[in-house]
Amino acid sequence: MPRFRYNGDVLSIFRLHGPRCSGKKSKHDRTYRRCSCPIHVEGKCGDRFLRQSLHTSNWQKAQRQVAAAESRGSWDPLPEEVQVPPLTIAEAKERFLKDAESGRRLGDSTLRKYRLMLLHLEQFAAKKGFLYLKQLDGESLERVKALFRFASENDWIDANPARLVRGPANIRDTQKLPFEPVEMDRIVEACRQVRLQGCTNDNLLAFVLVLRYSGLRIGDASMLTIDRFKDDDLFLYTQKSGTHVYVPLPPFVMNLVRAIKLRHGQYLFTGPESVRMETASDLWRRKLAQAFTLAKVQSGHPHRFRHTFAVELLKKGVPMEEVSILLGHSSLRITEKHYASWVQARQEILKAHVAKTWETFGVIEGGKAKVR
Ligand SMILES: [Zn+2]
Repeated sequence: MPRFRYNGDVLSIFRLHGPRCSGKKSKHDRTYRRCSCPIHVEGKCGDRFLRQSLHTSNWQKAQRQVAAAESRGSWDPLPEEVQVPPLTIAEAKERFLKDAESGRRLGDSTLRKYRLMLLHLEQFAAKKGFLYLKQLDGESLERVKALFRFASENDWIDANPARLVRGPANIRDTQKLPFEPVEMDRIVEACRQVRLQGCTNDNLLAFVLVLRYSGLRIGDASMLTIDRFKDDDLFLYTQKSGTHVYVPLPPFVMNLVRAIKLRHGQYLFTGPESVRMETASDLWRRKLAQAFTLAKVQSGHPHRFRHTFAVELLKKGVPMEEVSILLGHSSLRITEKHYASWVQARQEILKAHVAKTWETFGVIEGGKAKVR
């Protein structure tokens, strides 16, 4: 390994390895860069000697910063380039909570969930040695997004704040895609074959089909009780106006549901061993993971059943407003944000509807409309 040679006349950058360094490097190792430890700069620039953090773990960014300083001949930015200091994770958290408390006036239980989430985020950042919000990039950003997605799917939080964070380039979020019909077929087949502990295969298949045809989140589906069914309709929730929202389930799904032997009160998909939603849904996640593997479905994720439910409805021309109600979204904007790209079919129907409303005012003759 080449020894680091210090040349005080130029600026050098190096990673200052922390206790959590993925390369397990000592903080004195200045040659190793293949980790995400914070980058520091040292050396002479203009008439100043520097030794400080660059507040980034991105090597290219650090190089650009240093190159810019060298071309200016000074570490200090030109007056017009003075930038606001980077936002720390702690500051971002304070601002978010302040806005949630006094700006958005969220309820106590929602605030409690946000605080818990942010605590997890802080602990994650601390473990990684991150101080600044912008250090959450690449892999760690994906982890943060997954954490928020998980919380949102479980209804711990009402919206997923990480959705606003742009994902790193080139990472396609396949978890947002519905299952292709062939994938659904393979999953159904896998449910029949997979060997499960403490669960019959019919239960697994019923669970999968309930997810697919109700659009329920995995947490809600795992805690589903038989009394929520009225004939073949599944009660979803009560709207603010007091209207009850039901979704009808196909007969082949209802037959499986009715055949389930209840093991704990009214619960269809959980027994006395797991009456907490998190425990029950974790068990189902693991069972589904086995089925996805057996079905050779890439990026199988329980939430994709909900997307399949929504997208299939939209493709068949069910209006976005109705899909939004079935999904229980608090606003149509949320539905549009998720599914705007799937409404091509709906757009075609809209066009046909509008065209039908055109009255014939006259016939076009020689470029001139003759009004009747
Ligand atoms: Zn390191």
